[in-house]
Amino acid sequence: MTVGEAIRTYRDTLPEGVTLVAVSKFHPAEAIREAYDAGQRIFGESRVQELLQKIPQLPGDIRWHMIGHLQTNKVRQIIGRTALIESVDSLRLLDAIDAESLRAGTVTRVLLEVRIAREDTKTGFAPRDILDYFAHGGYRNLQATHICGLMAMASNTDDTGTVAGEFARAHRLMQQVRDMAPDLRGFDTLSMGMSDDYLLAIQNGSTMVRIGTAIFGNRL
Ligand SMILES: *Cc1c(COP(=O)(O)O)cnc(C)c1O
Repeated sequence: MTVGEAIRTYRDTLPEGVTLVAVSKFHPAEAIREAYDAGQRIFGESRVQELLQKIPQLPGDIRWHMIGHLQTNKVRQIIGRTALIESVDSLRLLDAIDAESLRAGTVTRVLLEVRIAREDTKTGFAPRDILDYFAHGGYRNLQATHICGLMAMASNTDDTGTVAGEFARAHRLMQQVRDMAPDLRGFDTLSMGMSDDYLLAIQNGSTMVRIGTAIFGNRL
């Protein structure tokens, strides 16, 4: 399947209400252009340097999502250039994004990354820390950042029961946050599901899937 065919297939088969992020990390601008020509506008990158190199090579109406770990000292470089930072994994990073967005006179949309996988190598907030943050109303102090929802990655295992359980947990957490913070506006994005597990993610409440390999092939 070509990149364009893959994009069209996802567009035809993903349920309404599920947004496709085409994860283009490690793939060249030409591959992104192929997906763009097939109608795709949202792309995910995991490294600041690579993102900044690609932006000027590609059409201006692309909505870039940052999906990789972001160092606080690199925040300034990408403020104003992303449609969504999906990988906010600490309060320190959240504060840095807010301060830099305020300074730049822009509002940055973010997701909080929650750790649901068993492997402790995965980054993100513990579910309990997410609940604490909203219970204490920490989000009310943000001046130039909009928390749009959560992002999660399941364990890398063939055990579909485990993966489905982890996704379901993220979905429940989303609901708990809404119950806890009824004044929170636009908290409706649950980004979960990659090439190998996106169907399970959608069955368990995902509204945004991040798919790389199944569109672009293996990364170099
Ligand atoms: C690389 C990456 C993906 C895409 O994974 P594939 O298995 O290639 O679909 C999705 N989400 C994050 C956070 C990633 O780093």
